[in-house]
Amino acid sequence: MRAMLNLYNTLTRRRDAFEPLEPGIVKLYTCGPTVYNVAHLGNFRAYIFEDILRRTLEYRGYRVVQVMNLTDVDDKTIRGAIAAGISLDAFTQQFKDAFFEDLKTLRIKPAEHYPAATAHIPDMIALIERLIERNHAYVADDDSVYFNIASYPAYGRLARLDLSSLQPGTRVAHDEYAKDNVADFALWKAWDADDGDVAWDSPWGRGRPGWHIECSAMCMRYLGETFDIHTGGIDNIFPHHEDEIAQSEAATGKPLARYWLHCAHLIIDGQKMSKSLGNFHTLRDIVAMGFRGREIRYLLASAHYRQTLNFTFDALHAVRSALDRIDTFRQRLQQVAGGITVSQETALPDWAQNTAAKFDQAICDDLNTAAAYGALFETIHEGNRLMDGGRVSDRDAAAVLTMFDRWDRVLAIMTPDADATTVNGAEDPVIAGLLEQRQAARQGKNFKESDRIRDLLRDKGWIVRDTPAGQELKRAHITSDRHSLDGSIACAQ
Ligand code: AMP
Ligand code: ZN
Repeated sequence: MRAMLNLYNTLTRRRDAFEPLEPGIVKLYTCGPTVYNVAHLGNFRAYIFEDILRRTLEYRGYRVVQVMNLTDVDDKTIRGAIAAGISLDAFTQQFKDAFFEDLKTLRIKPAEHYPAATAHIPDMIALIERLIERNHAYVADDDSVYFNIASYPAYGRLARLDLSSLQPGTRVAHDEYAKDNVADFALWKAWDADDGDVAWDSPWGRGRPGWHIECSAMCMRYLGETFDIHTGGIDNIFPHHEDEIAQSEAATGKPLARYWLHCAHLIIDGQKMSKSLGNFHTLRDIVAMGFRGREIRYLLASAHYRQTLNFTFDALHAVRSALDRIDTFRQRLQQVAGGITVSQETALPDWAQNTAAKFDQAICDDLNTAAAYGALFETIHEGNRLMDGGRVSDRDAAAVLTMFDRWDRVLAIMTPDADATTVNGAEDPVIAGLLEQRQAARQGKNFKESDRIRDLLRDKGWIVRDTPAGQELKRAHITSDRHSLDGSIACAQ
């Protein structure tokens, strides 16, 4: 029997069985980077956890609509632009570009939407107006607008705050503050000299939004007033997500997200890896040392996402031998399979059925990647033992290879990096994502959607065919200035 997908929900503090609001579709909001610097490995631990969440949902047959915001206006981005002597847009653009390159290096699937805060100021203003109308927000003497936490009795539910000693009316203007500083927080900050030339007009005068309202406005704009899953690192629980819930739910009267997932930190020398502590490694630094994106991805997913993970170079070196074992095993299976390929439905040999069930259980048990790696190495151990004795048939080897491909739709660690740039379209995360969406659409008998994705792939230069073994992808050859509609005819020319 197929394992049920359970996810640990910070809201309920337990593993909840996952069911989306709308059958077959999962709406997912993942808090994105503040683009004032290149992201570091700690940030990527969060984005890889979210990628594995997304991939697991797709593995389970759901279509995922993921939104990841880009925080391109806040205290830190403004400070950085002023120090660099360039416009806020020019300053943040370079880090947005770097971020998207890094996502590719780490095989993180692209989200459907990457809204930038600066492109959604009217949505934020409208939300603040709604909060003022409903008496959940007020304009202070300096023309900044604050959320009145006393007006919202559920405040503190996510972070489990004890508000009994709270002084009503105390205010905090900064985006980041600690639990012992719970107070009315800024939704709109009136312009001051620290903001340089960054300001927008609003009903309360010139100013800019607070960080928390940015996410509330953007998640509801793209996913609706109530959606399925909202995620971030544990440092986002308070104040960011607590404030997001308060603003959104006070404005709509509806729950914002049904499942809240948070990953534990990547630490180094006993402390959280963070820009402010200066104890961070960027992905680029590590790649410049000769490590591959695949190795870093493997390491960052090697512990369960709710366990603190300690970064060391020894651990990164150890990943090499783990990946070598995987590569060698797959090559050995390929030799035994001798060119045979089989479909997903082909029965697995007995020795792999057991680990197949373990993998499914692990990944569906709150995304337990550590146990999923365990199932992978158990398969390798057993498979090697049997191959040593010549006891694996070509068909069995092919079936295990197919199973590994299926697992790799979640893990994305099995193909060596050099292959990632070949013409095999499935190695391109965008194309692979479209193929998976199309497969999910076909499984759900949504042929209109599957045809739409087929046309989209064709526009991107790929032809997809449905064969008994599944979808088959071919490069559409470019004839004159347009894609030919049939790769095989073009090949024959
Ligand atoms: P920021 O750019 O600081 O807003 O952070 C972006 C994301 O990275 C957020 O979800 C943070 O919770 C997460 N994050 C930051 N540092 C770490 C860390 N050391 N380990 C895991 N996640 C982190
Ligand atoms: Zn956010």
